[in-house]
Amino acid sequence: KLGNETAKAELGRATWKFFHTMMARYPEEPTEEEQEALRSFVYLFARLYPCGECAAHFQAHLKKYPPQVSSRNAAAGWACFIHNEVNQMLNKPIFDCNKLGDYYDCGCADDEDDSTS
Ligand code: FAD
Repeated sequence: KLGNETAKAELGRATWKFFHTMMARYPEEPTEEEQEALRSFVYLFARLYPCGECAAHFQAHLKKYPPQVSSRNAAAGWACFIHNEVNQMLNKPIFDCNKLGDYYDCGCADDEDDSTS
């Protein structure tokens, strides 16, 4: 069956936006439980991502480069790296991970230390 490249790309853009924004909000000093939550999320995400071909590729990337969950910097850096692996596979430009900075803004109030979040 013929895929729909436009829909696949749109899903990818929306997902990456969410993925990187989540990493930008991940705690700087996560608890063990928070680290386990992110690790589980990434593996479940890789299983459930709706584009099956993409999910299979992503699972292969994860085998080589397991998620880094020890801190926000580690997680955001890892996510940028793994997205670049996908970019490379698809012949897309490589993103400079030093420029992540405030690129991914959740638009939420500054509730960094809000334990209810
Ligand atoms: P995208 O790659 O969607 O990126 C969106 C924006 O994010 C860019 O414009 C840039 O501003 C920023 N960005 C780019 N690189 C980085 C980075 N390294 N770190 C942070 N920000 C960055 N498509 C396929 O055809 N085959 C696949 O196997 C496939 N696998 C995928 C696996 C996953 C897990 C996901 C989420 C998507 C996958 N896609 C796949 C979709 C593909 O990655 C793109 O999302 C899609 O092709 C649209 O590309 P784009 O050029 O708009 O930029």
